[in-house]
Amino acid sequence: MDLHKLTIHELRELLANKEISVLELTEDVFKRIDDVEDKVKSFLTLTKEQALARAKDIDEKLAKGEKLGALAGIPVGIKDNICTEGVRTTCASKMLANFTPPYNATVMKKLESADAIMVGKTNMDEFAMGSSTENSAFFPTRNPWNLDRVPGGSSGGSAASVASDEVIFALGSDTGGSIRQPAAFCGVVGLKPTYGTVSRYGLIAFASSLDQIGPFTKDVTDCALVMNVITGHDDFDSTSVPMDHPDYTKFLINDIKGMRIGIPKEYFGEGIDPGVEAKIKEAIAKLEELGAIAEECSLPHTEYAMPAYYIIAPAEASSNLARYDGVRYGLRVEAEDVLTMFNRSRAQGFGTEVKRRIMLGTYALSSGYYDAYYLKALKVRNLVKQDFDRAFEKFDCLLTPIAPSVAFEFRSKADPLSMYKQDVCTIPINLAGLPALSLPYGLVDGMPVGLQLIGKPFDEGTLLRVAYTLEQNTDETRLKPVLGGSGR
Ligand code: GLN
Repeated sequence: MDLHKLTIHELRELLANKEISVLELTEDVFKRIDDVEDKVKSFLTLTKEQALARAKDIDEKLAKGEKLGALAGIPVGIKDNICTEGVRTTCASKMLANFTPPYNATVMKKLESADAIMVGKTNMDEFAMGSSTENSAFFPTRNPWNLDRVPGGSSGGSAASVASDEVIFALGSDTGGSIRQPAAFCGVVGLKPTYGTVSRYGLIAFASSLDQIGPFTKDVTDCALVMNVITGHDDFDSTSVPMDHPDYTKFLINDIKGMRIGIPKEYFGEGIDPGVEAKIKEAIAKLEELGAIAEECSLPHTEYAMPAYYIIAPAEASSNLARYDGVRYGLRVEAEDVLTMFNRSRAQGFGTEVKRRIMLGTYALSSGYYDAYYLKALKVRNLVKQDFDRAFEKFDCLLTPIAPSVAFEFRSKADPLSMYKQDVCTIPINLAGLPALSLPYGLVDGMPVGLQLIGKPFDEGTLLRVAYTLEQNTDETRLKPVLGGSGR
């Protein structure tokens, strides 16, 4: 049986009925990795030995009838900016090429106590800055749907590993779209939870007021199952919200009758590929047919979200990345004096995009420009948030495209601005701290399209419900790639 093709919930059943062993499943997943990893290149590090040892361990516990966690024996890929004790964590940067964390991120502890099995660390844009995984200091990951195209980014390795069945699910991080856009490009489900829902402890910081960890899964049910494990308050992250999170599987309801869905007009039209737009409109029509009430609305400050993000995110990054100086953290290039050592370490350790962000952020925070740029951007952020607050007085959730186009070819977005524009539909959600789910919805030119469902704070449940209903009533959401293209 091709176990790697199955979902978490399907595998849980097979494991519970003792039809398969965890070792069988783990070996099958590594066989799949052997078969396709050369083409896709999802992973920076594989942890086969540890995974097989853990699999045997869990099988023994199963045999003894011990009670096991909710993800027992399920193979998972972890984005390489999430700290894993004893396993190299590089952020796809030369700066951290030899960094082995002495501790686990909180999400890793949670996955471990749920008895999931880590298969490896996935590729990404360096320090999560980018939208194509081309900024990895090591190599690009390829889109399993067409190896000549990017998988999206920055969590491109996580998205590609799930789409190509190298893992059953994966974790990524989303600062401005880095879970949702690669999920859309690779045709899998991705969720950015409400800011404060999943602990950021042990997530290597990019922009701390925006970063949030979330799941990549093959279907909506799996998304709920993973959310049940990774959410929760954490004393080690002061921005994690002290509240009880629901059992997310309770929202897997095939019924959206009477639900009010807002369609913000600023997310359609100019700049959005007509094929993508047509597909999203098809999804809206389907939702109406299923009993939802869809209505146009307006989020008037949308156009200012991207400029504000490209002040705020680089500002926070410039501060977060100051620690990589060859002394406290990261690569050290020896030199005759300490300043030259700092300079050389940072010049050789960081790639072009990371340096660009550090310069932008340092400039925006400098005393002469702080008010004109940083403070102004914070005010804009507030206006963006208020737009959403107003919309949610009327609607249960909002629906937009995830990205202006389907996955593009390598090197086709060479100038930074055209790459930044990839995130026009996803960035406002991070600025407002809201949850948003990326659901595959059919193909355009043979490549997956993603639709975005945006929710009220802590209302991931409504997003799961709408996505689940679409999944149950159409064939558009469960897509499987064929690993096509030349892969050159
Ligand atoms: N592509 C966006 C950026 O480069 C978002 C990245 C992210 O979400 N980590 O900043």
